[in-house]
Amino acid sequence: MVSADQYSGNGPKSLSIVIPLYNEGDHVESSLSEIGRYAHTRTVADMGVQDVEFVLVDDGSSDNTWEAIGRFASVHAKCVCLRLSRNFGKEAAICAGIEHAHGAAVIVMDGDLQHPPELIPEMVRLWTVEGFDVVDAVKADRGEEPAWYRFHARLFNQVMSRLSGFDLADASDFKLLDRRVVTAFLRLSERQTFYRGLVAWLGFRHARLPMIVKPRMAGRSTWSLLRLLGLAVTGLTSFSTAAMHLVSLMGMMFLIAAIVLTVKTLWTWLRGEAVPGIATVIILQLGIGSVTMIALGIIGEYLSRVYGETKARPRYVVADSLDHRSHP
Ligand code: UDP
Ligand code: MG
Repeated sequence: MVSADQYSGNGPKSLSIVIPLYNEGDHVESSLSEIGRYAHTRTVADMGVQDVEFVLVDDGSSDNTWEAIGRFASVHAKCVCLRLSRNFGKEAAICAGIEHAHGAAVIVMDGDLQHPPELIPEMVRLWTVEGFDVVDAVKADRGEEPAWYRFHARLFNQVMSRLSGFDLADASDFKLLDRRVVTAFLRLSERQTFYRGLVAWLGFRHARLPMIVKPRMAGRSTWSLLRLLGLAVTGLTSFSTAAMHLVSLMGMMFLIAAIVLTVKTLWTWLRGEAVPGIATVIILQLGIGSVTMIALGIIGEYLSRVYGETKARPRYVVADSLDHRSHP
């Protein structure tokens, strides 16, 4: 455990770099060395950060990621390695990493070098010299991400920002968190987390650092459209009840339409004319039916979140761990 004064303003500080890894075995050793190169610079040391540890979380990879990080840990740096018992997803892996980090600050970043490690010294400067509690790397340029990915990522961020009330546009998971923020983060008890949103929700003093997203080191992104959609639903339901209000809104619209149609139908009937409109009935039936289904679906979505939370299962399960922190 790190002594309390290491978290305080004076004296040497420690930094943890948390990296979730899923099937990154091919390149992880070289990527980690590259990240290490920027974390162990003279500039960083001069700012009082003497001690840098890696917290590497193997999120149930099916390739040789675990062996690769074990090799890296035994030679290169101070490392804590965790192997989750199965693939729990990046959000859970990030939580696992943050919970096992000991540093006075924690940097969370991807393991595929898409988050430029060159920014680490500047992040540390904003933290130690300028006194910011959170440094958010924001996407100034989405690099070579395909246009369709860029489009739905931007849409997702914009919808999330609008609904949650926090500015999440161009937000990324590449962040530095001061220990105070980490402590506050660890007190959040929800099972299904949305890291980016939660860090925004926590508040504290934020600095924004523009970054250019680089192409993937190797392998391919594991975020399918379906998985992103899942994250969007988690984000939406955990930060906003807007979808539920939408149900009420749809109900109101149908009520107005119903009143208009009723008046019209009664008027026709009072005038002694036959009431036509089997087509109207069919259209109404279909319309009301689908809106009811959507409404039930939305309510079900919130209900399933509540159900998930009440089960209070752990966010992740650690199968193996390696602690190489005492490595010189
Ligand atoms: N990742 C993870 N668990 C998963 C999927 C991804 O830990 O189930 C890690 C992955 O190894 C990488 C980071 O999360 O370090 C970002 O993943 P990826 O590059 O696939 O996403 P993208 O860059 O497309 O957002
Ligand atoms: Mg990536």
